[in-house]
Amino acid sequence: MTSPPTPAYDVLNRVFGYLDFRGQQREIIEHVVDGGDALVLMPTGGGKSLCYQIPALVRPGTGVVISPLIALMQDQVDALRTLGVRAGFLNSAQDYDERRLVEAEFVNGELDLLYVAPEGLGVAATQRLLDRGKISLFAIDEAHCVSQWGHDFRPDYLGLSMLHERWPDVPRIALTATATSATREEIATRLRLDDARHFTASFDRPNIQYRIVPKNEPRKQLLDLLRTEHPGDSGIIYCLSRASVEKVAEFLNQNGITALPYHAGLDNRVRAANQSRFLREDGLVMVATIAFGMGIDKPDVRFVAHLDLPKSVEGYYQETGRAGRDGQPSTAWLAYGLQDVVQQRKMIESSDGDVNFRRNASKHLDAMLALCETVSCRRSELLAYFGQDQSGDNCGNCDTCLAPPESWDATVAAQKLLSTVLRLQRERGQKFGAGQSIDILVGKQTDKIKQFRHDQLSVFGIGTELRETEWRGVVRKLLAAGHLAVEGEYGTLVLTESSAEVLRGQAKVAMRREVAPVKTRAPKQRS
Ligand code: ADP
Ligand code: ZN
Repeated sequence: MTSPPTPAYDVLNRVFGYLDFRGQQREIIEHVVDGGDALVLMPTGGGKSLCYQIPALVRPGTGVVISPLIALMQDQVDALRTLGVRAGFLNSAQDYDERRLVEAEFVNGELDLLYVAPEGLGVAATQRLLDRGKISLFAIDEAHCVSQWGHDFRPDYLGLSMLHERWPDVPRIALTATATSATREEIATRLRLDDARHFTASFDRPNIQYRIVPKNEPRKQLLDLLRTEHPGDSGIIYCLSRASVEKVAEFLNQNGITALPYHAGLDNRVRAANQSRFLREDGLVMVATIAFGMGIDKPDVRFVAHLDLPKSVEGYYQETGRAGRDGQPSTAWLAYGLQDVVQQRKMIESSDGDVNFRRNASKHLDAMLALCETVSCRRSELLAYFGQDQSGDNCGNCDTCLAPPESWDATVAAQKLLSTVLRLQRERGQKFGAGQSIDILVGKQTDKIKQFRHDQLSVFGIGTELRETEWRGVVRKLLAAGHLAVEGEYGTLVLTESSAEVLRGQAKVAMRREVAPVKTRAPKQRS
C-alpha cells in the first residue's frame, strides 16, 4: 500500500528515495508538520532521523537539531548534502570562517537543517543568532541524555528546557532509543514537553540472539565464539576499563583476528581513525569502552560481546542494539561472573555521588543482575523492563529458549553459604571475600584456611556437594537477589536484612543449572 501523496510523502520519495514510511514514521511526521510536540521512542535502526528531517524540509524555516555527537556531525551533514538537503552544523570543533559561513546561511534562510551541540545553545550569542533566522522545529536527539539517573547524562541537556520558554511557538521533537517509562517521564518533565504526544515503537529486535553465559575463561570463551560462529564478521566487544580494552585487542590480534582498540584515553586522531576503519572496512572487530558506539550507523555489525557486566539494562539494550541493524541474524553475547558483581557494587559504594545517586545505581545494577540470573526468556524480561509485557512468551531466539536451563532449588546451599558468613562474623568477628567462604564450604586446606584456623569452624567442608564454580554461582545469585552484599575495598561478604529470611527458610532460592553453551546461529527473523 502506498501512502497518499502528502508533501511529507513527496519528500520521502523525492529526496530520500524511499517508497514508504516505516512503523510510526508517518504519524510522527504529520504530527510535527502540523506543529505538535512529540516524544519519540524507537529502537536503534528504527528510522528516527526521518522523523525530524522530513518535517524540517516540509515546514518553512530551518530545523535545528541538537545532538551530543559532535564527532558525527560532519558525516551526518555530508550525507544530507549528497541528497541535496541544505544542511550545516555549528560546534566547538569548527574554525571561525566555517562558522561565519554557516551562520550567514542560516540567517539568510538557506538551510533546511542546522545541527548544534547542546553546550552551544546555552551560549547567548548562539541564542541571538537563532533569533535572527526562522526556525521550523527543534529536534532533540539522544534525549535520554537529560536523565540524571541514566548512563549518558549530559548536564548541558538540562538547559534545553529554555527552548520552550524562548521559542514557545516552535514545535519540538525529542528522540531516544532507550527509555523506561520512568525515564520517559523524566525526559518529558525536564524538557517541558507537557503537551507532547508520545510515540513508542516496539523495542523488540527479533534478529538479535541474546545469550548470557557464566564467565569462566572469558578470553578463551570469546575466541571460541568468534572462531566458531563469527569468523570474518564485524563486531564490537565492550570492556569496562581502558586497560582491558588494550589487552583484549592485543590478544585477538595475536590470535589472528583483526581488532582495533577504542577508549577515551587514546589520542583523538587514533580514535577517529579506528572508528572510520571500523565503519568502512569489512570484518573488523572493535574492542571498546562504552565511549564507543552512540550514533554509529553500521548496518552489518554481526555480534556485540560484553566481557564485563553493563551497569544497567538500558546500557545493555543500547549497546547490544548496535548489532544487526540490517535485520540479519546477529548475536548479543555477555559473559558475567561473580567478580563483576563485586566490582560494580564496590564502584557504586566508593562513588562521589550522593545517597540518591547510589540508590539509583544500585537499582540499575539489580535489574541487570536479574536479567542475567533469570530462568525465563531473556527477550521477554528485556521487553518487560521497557514496559512491553510479553509474559509467558518464548522468543525461540535467546539462550534460555534455545536450551532451557533446568532450575534447581538452591535454598539449602544458600543457607550453608549465609551461615558461613554469619559464623565468620559472629564467632570470629571476621569478614572475608567470596573465595575464602567457598574454600571453607568445600573444605579446602589452603594456607589461608590454616592461618585463620577456619578448618575448626563447624561449617568447614559441609558443602562438598557443589563444585567451586557452582558455589560462585550461588554467591552471584544471592548478591543479585540482595540476600548478601559486598563491602569495602576487598569486596568482603556481609549479610543483609533479607539474609535471615533465607536462613529461616522463608525465602526460596532457585538457580539456573549451568548448561552446555548454546551454539546455534540465530534463525532467520521471526515472521
Ligand atoms: P535511528 O536513528 O533510529 O537509529 P536511522 O534514522 O539512522 O535510525 O535509520 C536507520 C536506517 O533505516 C537508515 O539507513 C535509514 O536510511 C533507513 N530508513 C529509515 N526510514 C526508512 C524508510 N521509511 N524506508 C527505508 N529505509 C529507511
Ligand atoms: Zn527467549
